[in-house]
Amino acid sequence: MSAPGENLRIDGTRLWDSLMRMAEIGPGVAGGNNRQALTDVDAEGRALFAEWCAAAGLTMGVDAMGNMFARREGTDPDAAPVYVGSHLDTQPTGGKYDGVLGVLGGLEIIRTLDDMEIRTRRPIVVVNWTNEEGTRFAPAMLASGVFAGRHDLDWAHAREDAEGKRFGDELERIGWKGEEEVGARDIHALFELHIEQGPILEAEGRDIGVVTHGQGLWWLEIRLTGKESHTGSTPMHMRVNAGLGMARITEAVHRIAMEHQPDAVGAVGQANVWPNSRNVIPGRAVFTVDIRSPDRAKLDAMRAAVEAEAARIAADLGLGIEIEPVGHFDPVTFDPGCVGMVRAAAERLGYSHRDIVSGAGHDACWIAGVAPTAMVMCPCKDGLSHNEAEEITPDWATAGCDVLFHAVIEAAEVVS
Ligand SMILES: [Zn+2]
Repeated sequence: MSAPGENLRIDGTRLWDSLMRMAEIGPGVAGGNNRQALTDVDAEGRALFAEWCAAAGLTMGVDAMGNMFARREGTDPDAAPVYVGSHLDTQPTGGKYDGVLGVLGGLEIIRTLDDMEIRTRRPIVVVNWTNEEGTRFAPAMLASGVFAGRHDLDWAHAREDAEGKRFGDELERIGWKGEEEVGARDIHALFELHIEQGPILEAEGRDIGVVTHGQGLWWLEIRLTGKESHTGSTPMHMRVNAGLGMARITEAVHRIAMEHQPDAVGAVGQANVWPNSRNVIPGRAVFTVDIRSPDRAKLDAMRAAVEAEAARIAADLGLGIEIEPVGHFDPVTFDPGCVGMVRAAAERLGYSHRDIVSGAGHDACWIAGVAPTAMVMCPCKDGLSHNEAEEITPDWATAGCDVLFHAVIEAAEVVS
């Protein structure tokens, strides 16, 4: 097995044209897209992708979660395939690239291989995971989660949207409920290209993020109980101020995240005080702490530090305190072999790159639990995503897809 030559490149113009064509389906109100999972426009987007796959001679498999698997044969039909893809669904006010780049980037690889008449030993499968975004049907990454054995199929089918419509019924209604058993596929390796959704690559002027880890997280809900009293007539030494406790804990969360660098983050994102009146000292505060780290030991150390510090602050102020974990993801370590192929591809192709941690969840994070997996990231303007103004340049898309191409065909083994 040898590394592909540096002169092998995808067709960036064709990739960009396909991105723009897909973006015509389910337009948003401000230049982006609204192609939420299992809507009529999701079906339209799937049909266009399927049409392109058929034109490229791929055979389509669809499983009972509506995941789409478009396969190009290898010279060894018994070899486990290399998978490449992401998701075509979007947020209600989503961009044109989040997810879509990874799916159409996979298709562009196939088209390039056909142009160059390159065969691989392993089959290559381009995948569109259903309902990555999770806005219409929570949670996010639902179908890749079922594939990876994290969720039960019947539980997933019973998920309801805001109107009480069930996932399974809607999947059937749009015509994409397949027969295939979910998760029954043998995956040699999986690669996902995705926009960064953060500001680091653009700020540093790098073309490629080599994703080594996915952030683990803890969400903690903290409830403080003090005493509601008049802001004017209660002397300072007699106050039991739940709002002050929340402010001090918020500061502590920031400090604890700073003490666990690199890559740790922490913030209080949701905050409520009662009675939320301008002349009443808050008698109750309920807020959520979001702490993340790619390192399991650090993540748990941060949680312990937040809990200890919050308890100390509450005791100092005479507040009652309850702390409840309300969400958790384990950190993800992507496969060193696959990550190495991505890094080597960026190097070989002459693209500037750095190792990066994914701050957001992705389908690849679930698949990493069942198969060797890696991700490629390209920059996005101002780090903006989950926003109709999400933007990338054709050069960034091309660089990301070139790196994806080289990593995929190295794993799939070019037959000379
Ligand atoms: Zn995405």
